[in-house]
Amino acid sequence: PRYVYRFGGGVDDGGKGDKNLLGGKGANLDGMASIGLPVPPGFTITTEMCTRYYVDGEVFPDSLRAEVASGIAHIEGVTGKKFGDKADPLLVSVRSGARVSMPGMMDTVLNLGLNDETVEGLAAASGDARFAWDSYRRFIQMYSDVVLELDHGAFEEALEIAKEDHGYTLDTELSAADWKALVGEYKKIVLDQWKKPFPQDVHDQLWGAISAVFGSWQADRAKVYRRLNDIPGDWGTAVNVQAMVFGNMGDTSATGVAFTRDPSTGENVYYGEFLINAQGEDVVAGIRTPQYLTKAARERAGAKAASMEEAMPETYAELARVFQILEQHYRDMQDIEFTVQQGKLWMLQTRSGKRTAKAALKMAVDMAGEGLITQEEAVARVDPSALDQLLHPTLDPAAERDVLTKGLPASPGAASGIVVFDADTAERRNEMGDAVILVRTETSPEDIHGMHAAKGILTARGGMTSHAAVVARGMGRPCVSGAGSLSIDAKAKILRVAGRELVEGDIVTIDGSTGEVMSGAVPTVQPELAGDFGTLMVWADKVRRLKVRANAETPLDCKTAREFGAEGVGLCRTEHMFFDAARITAVRQMILADSEKGRREALDRLLPEQRSDFTEIFLVMAGLPVTIRLLDPPLHEFLPHEEAEFEDVATAAGVGIDVLKRRASELHELNPMLGHRGCRLGVTYPEIYEMQARAIFEAAIDVEEHSGTAPIPEIMIPLVATAKELELMKAIVDAQAKAVFAERGTTIEYLVGTMIELPRAALKAGEIAQSAEFFSFGTNDLTQTTIGISRDDASRFLGTYVDKGIFPRDPFVSIDVEGVGELIQIAAERGRETRPEIKLGICGEHGGDPASIAFCEATGLDYVSASPYRVPIARLAAAQAAL
Ligand code: PEP
Ligand code: MG
Repeated sequence: PRYVYRFGGGVDDGGKGDKNLLGGKGANLDGMASIGLPVPPGFTITTEMCTRYYVDGEVFPDSLRAEVASGIAHIEGVTGKKFGDKADPLLVSVRSGARVSMPGMMDTVLNLGLNDETVEGLAAASGDARFAWDSYRRFIQMYSDVVLELDHGAFEEALEIAKEDHGYTLDTELSAADWKALVGEYKKIVLDQWKKPFPQDVHDQLWGAISAVFGSWQADRAKVYRRLNDIPGDWGTAVNVQAMVFGNMGDTSATGVAFTRDPSTGENVYYGEFLINAQGEDVVAGIRTPQYLTKAARERAGAKAASMEEAMPETYAELARVFQILEQHYRDMQDIEFTVQQGKLWMLQTRSGKRTAKAALKMAVDMAGEGLITQEEAVARVDPSALDQLLHPTLDPAAERDVLTKGLPASPGAASGIVVFDADTAERRNEMGDAVILVRTETSPEDIHGMHAAKGILTARGGMTSHAAVVARGMGRPCVSGAGSLSIDAKAKILRVAGRELVEGDIVTIDGSTGEVMSGAVPTVQPELAGDFGTLMVWADKVRRLKVRANAETPLDCKTAREFGAEGVGLCRTEHMFFDAARITAVRQMILADSEKGRREALDRLLPEQRSDFTEIFLVMAGLPVTIRLLDPPLHEFLPHEEAEFEDVATAAGVGIDVLKRRASELHELNPMLGHRGCRLGVTYPEIYEMQARAIFEAAIDVEEHSGTAPIPEIMIPLVATAKELELMKAIVDAQAKAVFAERGTTIEYLVGTMIELPRAALKAGEIAQSAEFFSFGTNDLTQTTIGISRDDASRFLGTYVDKGIFPRDPFVSIDVEGVGELIQIAAERGRETRPEIKLGICGEHGGDPASIAFCEATGLDYVSASPYRVPIARLAAAQAAL
């Protein structure tokens, strides 16, 4: 096979440029050459060579020598210079270029081809000895660093000493003789560290650099990066060898970087920086302040130094023309590197530019409007997860941050407020007008009111599906969970972190999108939901097949969900309604009662409350389907702790405190997640589910009578393992329906279904579907029970699991397709065999994760359900999955 592809000077061996073969950089150099843009001539050694290099035991085939020689000859032909020529030497750059840009690999060597003789030739040919010796010392330094891998500190030190000796402060003060002397020092450093003199043969230099690029593919840094970013090891990297052009040959030379549109706002304006008389690295290194590209940008910034548009109007016009051609050709915003050598523009690189979420959205919508791309392409271009950034306040990127620690990015958005250590204080301080951040070791359902009152939640323990994370996402509150380096003494109201102590009232900022926890208030920027966002959502809705519902249990959450486009409620967790301050005593009375009669008394008090919960939700959802899950959590979560709480219950129930305490300790469970919860509550205390079913039917009829629109309740039984359990629970629900319909003299439509969140339920789905009209996959519990990893404790070790590649991603965040996914497929198949029209959805946290949504689309589910703020993400991800 052929391993070398030439480009430039009217040649483009690679045609339009195949990224897999030529790497990203090589493909785009070839692509630019193929459309006639000014690219310095060069050649690319393919990624296939890299792969073969390793297969053959890190040697090059003989044929490569000849191919590289013809590549060099091509460059020599176009430039009219000879590699190694003492009079007017050809210099080249050598760069790596994988399919995707990959930090951790050898990057760039410039000015290759200089040695003790050619440097004199360069000095003579350019008429600038200072430039020549400066180029040579840069080359030795770079080559020693990236190819020979010597300690670069020694070179910097030598430069510092030279400047000190002469009393210089700036590099620009060094003369030709100074640089020449420094070259001598640099060569000594090489000899000292490498035990061999700096290579003088230009071909040895070239092969050294080529080997170093291929060698860097298997460097530890590169391997780690590949593992973290799912890049296969056999992709290999390409090597690009290209004629040098110089931006540091006087005032008609320059170098710069540019974007064809503003990468932070997405505006359709050129954006970039350049420096006159400089080399590329100078722009990046920040030694001199770069100048603006356009006059408008310079004026907007109030800067004095002339923009490129003003300083070099003709070259700028040429550059602007290139921008247009590149956008038309690549049909995307381009990130460009260019150099001007004595008035002549050269393009060194182009690639699709990185952009903020906001810019991605604006560019996609604009480009579809301009006809550059289709609406479907626009939908495909925006990363759904990045929408998170747009739907929540974010930290002002310009603001300073004093980072205390980092936890898990559990619920996106940024918030600042005073530290408080318990839910009641959170509520009280919120009422006093304070912005509060609720800081807990972990949260429990009892903290809900405090979480509501807080601007953000910070926990020391718990993973991405911990209580704090799930509830915070549902409420749209920023949350950082599992910040393990926090030590929280809630009693003493002290938070210790990074050797510092914070007390109640101290201000912190959390960023739930990155997991950062900062001291003090960091300014935030508010989201914009109008315009482009809405447009893209409309386009997404045109292509998606999956319906999108929301997990919501309050009228407010339901309203938010509808504003974000939810087409129903996929999970209303009724237990959250039980923690309301006005009801908790009755709930506790119910739990602590030791007889059915006692329980029924308490339930009678709860019935009207539940009815009004459902009425409000049905009204907001206006005829859309609402899946209501009957009580699920282990009962002990509701137990009183404080003396005063026991007293309240004792008064309400008319029994002694001692009796209650005994009963409370009887309810204690060793493993509550696998204990007396889910439908097991309905099996042992049917009156609880009776009350809830009755409340649902009464509310539904009330709403129909009141609004004229009949809600369609979907009543969902949690944690079912066997068909018999569901049969029994369905009988309870149907009996309540019958009773209520008889009392009210009317009927409404309803469905009874179940969650599939235990492996046994997935396997026996065929039987379960005999009584289930729908399945909703509760993938939080299904993941927990399939893998046998506690969702509340997983964060302590899952990170290591992901690092070691045991799981590609946290299985509580992105569905474990191979394991949990197979159970879902089995359940879907067996359920449909029994009941072809069975409705299938997912309501675990995975319902808002784009990769998991793609799996749901592939499995043919009917809908996904996500927390309200993730509904737009789910809509976009569902559209992309359908494309
Ligand atoms: C689940 O287990 O996936 C689920 C949605 O229920 P919960 O998170 O309330 O246990
Ligand atoms: Mg569950």
